[in-house]
Amino acid sequence: MNRSPDVVVVGGGVIGCAVAYYAAKRGLRVTLVDRPQRGRATSASAGGLWPLGESVGLGCGVIFYKAMAGLGSLPDGVHGPGQLPKVFLDFAVRSNAMFPDLAEALRETGGLDVEFERTSLLFLMYDEGDVAFAKPLWEHCPCGRDLTEWLTPEELARAEPAVTREVRGALRFHGDDQVNPYRLAEAFRTSARSLGATVVTHTEVTGLRVESGRVTAVETATGAIPCGLVVNAAGAWAPEIGRMAGVEIPVRPVRGQILGTEALPDVLSACLSTTDCYLAQKQHGEVIIGSTTEEVGYETGVTPAAMKALAAGAVRAVPFLKDVRVKRVWSGLRPGTPDELPILGPVEGLDGYLNACGHFRTGILNAPLTGLLVSEMIAGATPSFPAELFLLSRFSGAIRRADNR
Ligand SMILES: Cc1cc2nc3c(=O)[nH]c(=O)nc-3n(C[C@H](O)[C@H](O)[C@H](O)COP(=O)(O)OP(=O)(O)OC[C@H]3O[C@@H](n4cnc5c(N)ncnc54)[C@H](O)[C@@H]3O)c2cc1C
Repeated sequence: MNRSPDVVVVGGGVIGCAVAYYAAKRGLRVTLVDRPQRGRATSASAGGLWPLGESVGLGCGVIFYKAMAGLGSLPDGVHGPGQLPKVFLDFAVRSNAMFPDLAEALRETGGLDVEFERTSLLFLMYDEGDVAFAKPLWEHCPCGRDLTEWLTPEELARAEPAVTREVRGALRFHGDDQVNPYRLAEAFRTSARSLGATVVTHTEVTGLRVESGRVTAVETATGAIPCGLVVNAAGAWAPEIGRMAGVEIPVRPVRGQILGTEALPDVLSACLSTTDCYLAQKQHGEVIIGSTTEEVGYETGVTPAAMKALAAGAVRAVPFLKDVRVKRVWSGLRPGTPDELPILGPVEGLDGYLNACGHFRTGILNAPLTGLLVSEMIAGATPSFPAELFLLSRFSGAIRRADNR
């Protein structure tokens, strides 16, 4: 009997775990291989599920502009955020809509609560510049006028008493939610295991065996795993895995620094985005304050300057935070792509290989639909969302294929 897996998933962040879960759910034989890497993005995330805010350039988007100003210029081919294409919004809205049922299914299968919370995202307008930025988003929001709401300072004060009164108002995005990102990845992994997947932890993938234009095995520090197909879900390290099969993947690490307060009583009912930072209070009471967007390669440190700027931004938005204790500070490496869209699906001329990488600042949000879509590709089923715009081939000249055996 052939006991080799149908698919080996490389990378045990939220994306690899989501792919493993959905593939195991389809009855496929799955092996997930992960080497815990300092800086993995999933462990750093804030868990915002902000399809609307992210698609119009908020979330950590506005902070990106500040980072750009501080850095001078970005590398060739990299641009700052603006509105993302409609296909991103459609993908993200669809993925976010999967969370309520998914949370239930993961609880039933793996016994873990992912702390999914229906909420909204509020963009605080401090000055006329912020008003000018927000007004067109309100008037011509690609998500439709009924999902946005303009709050006067008085309405904002009633809705969020802890927020500063030094504001011109706020723009609310209904349909932007949140989740506990670590729980989500853990729940995908645990559920995948319950459905029969094999999870190989603390093991580095060192090579891909390619024979006659097809990946036939994944090589690890402890031996080779023959397989029908490999999924590259290695986050910011996806280029390393791609190169093992002669594929160039334009993913780069983009550092995000972030901090969390001690557990607090209920301070915020919505998530907040400002031109300085974003804030999200999680179910256990911690307020997460993020985040920088920095082009510093694989450097995973935390800098006093960034912590000071984020903390000042948080206190400006919610003055009460001035006297609370910071409990932890950390950073992670987002898998960034030149156009901010993920890279999904097959690579021309190379069989037995799929990409599931490049989720940049929305991998938590987009994990459910990515997992479903990639599992459909593995099974050869019709994808339930058109994937053409996410193929690697949209970057011309990105592929250099060569058999390594
Ligand atoms: C500060 C910060 C805040 C964020 N906030 C949000 C948010 O609010 N909402 C949202 O949707 N997204 C957010 N993101 C983005 C999100 O975290 C990422 O898009 C997502 O986690 C990417 O997941 P991944 O599985 O692709 O990568 P990762 O989580 O980095 O996982 C990749 C895995 O592959 C493993 N690996 C690499 N090489 C190998 C190898 N050779 N062999 C074996 N294993 C290997 C790594 O060790 C790692 O475990 C945030 C990111 C950061 C940094």
